[in-house]
Amino acid sequence: MSIDPRTVVLLAGIMGGMMAMVLLFMRRNYPANIRGLGEWAAASALIFLSTLLLGARDLIPDFLSVVAGNVLLLAGLALFHVGSQNFLGRPPSTRPWAALILAVLPLLLWFTHVEPHYGIRVLAMSLLMMVLTAAHALTLLRHGVRSFATYLAGGALLVQTAAQATRFHSAFSTTPDSTLFLLSPAQAWFVSTYAFCLLMVSIGLVLMATDKLRAEFEHQASHDSLTGALTRRAFLDACTQELERGRRKDRVCSLLIMDLDHFKNINDSYGHQAGDRVLVDFVDRVAGLLRRPDQFGRFGGEEFVALLPETSPAEAMVVAERIRAEVERTLVQPGCTVSIGVASSVPDEAAIDTILSRADVALYAAKDAGRNCVRAAA
Ligand code: GH3
Ligand code: MG
Ligand code: MG
Repeated sequence: MSIDPRTVVLLAGIMGGMMAMVLLFMRRNYPANIRGLGEWAAASALIFLSTLLLGARDLIPDFLSVVAGNVLLLAGLALFHVGSQNFLGRPPSTRPWAALILAVLPLLLWFTHVEPHYGIRVLAMSLLMMVLTAAHALTLLRHGVRSFATYLAGGALLVQTAAQATRFHSAFSTTPDSTLFLLSPAQAWFVSTYAFCLLMVSIGLVLMATDKLRAEFEHQASHDSLTGALTRRAFLDACTQELERGRRKDRVCSLLIMDLDHFKNINDSYGHQAGDRVLVDFVDRVAGLLRRPDQFGRFGGEEFVALLPETSPAEAMVVAERIRAEVERTLVQPGCTVSIGVASSVPDEAAIDTILSRADVALYAAKDAGRNCVRAAA
């Protein structure tokens, strides 16, 4: 089957232009903390423009078609990479890319106007495009979340890199007066592959942004906005799963209920905002003392819960005592202390409600015992 490269390039360009509109729309509607959308939209627009210029070869002056078309293409690829770096919170490599593109400009001018040589231009362009797409793929695959979207964009970039590598290799055998649109069928396939992958990259990036938006909404729904601890419902869901797993594996889980002592006094004496700061500080400190699999939630005002999977009652008492001592010693508000009730799951009895109410009874025992202490459920 033969392909007309000019049609493919133009079609890819039009699809890229549509992706630019999609990305622009997303940039306007997505929260500002999802970054990189503006650069991606601009990159798609630049590449769209470049395909129009490259596609109009022989219809418009070579300066516009060859020089400007290629420079816009490189700038678009670089901007795609910078967008991904911003999206992933990585330092953007804007300057090195700008320097590289400026450096190739005299080369393009020379081999277009002074000593026209298609082969050398292909060598330079394919080498640079290879570097840009490989760097972009590396950024996504190394720093992106492991998801279909990341693999789609990263994989398409790798295929583009391979297509350019093949083109670079074949440039040694092209005749000087050849052009993009007088290619051998094999080369036409590479150009088409490249154009098709560009669309895949854009789709991958759009999916990455929607994944991030969904993750953000899920995080907001399951985490307390003040302290970042799990909400009551998210904590109970996590507990139910964890207890079920513990029951299957025949392992004990332990639960801590923590309540700050005389917290009302802190609000009354120093104000509600000072109280909020204490809550945030408390959560940071406790989180620092918990392990990775532990779940930590805010149950209400100044009452918090932690579920410690595969933790015996004795081990849980050690953790609780560590938390109590840390709060007494280091909390942002001196004199602020915490009381903790500890309960553990018993074999064949893994309902979260039962453990919670036993831990609650233990917490009241700690309050009754004068506060700033840890009590275990009977
Ligand atoms: P106890 O030692 O018996 O636990 O006494 P307490 O004062 O800590 O308990 P109480 O239940 O009487 O008071 C809890 C206080 O926590 C009352 C409420 O104003 C405060 N509180 C609840 N939620 C928040 C919050 O989000 N921020 C702040 N600053 N205060 C809160
Ligand atoms: Mg309290
Ligand atoms: Mg309370």
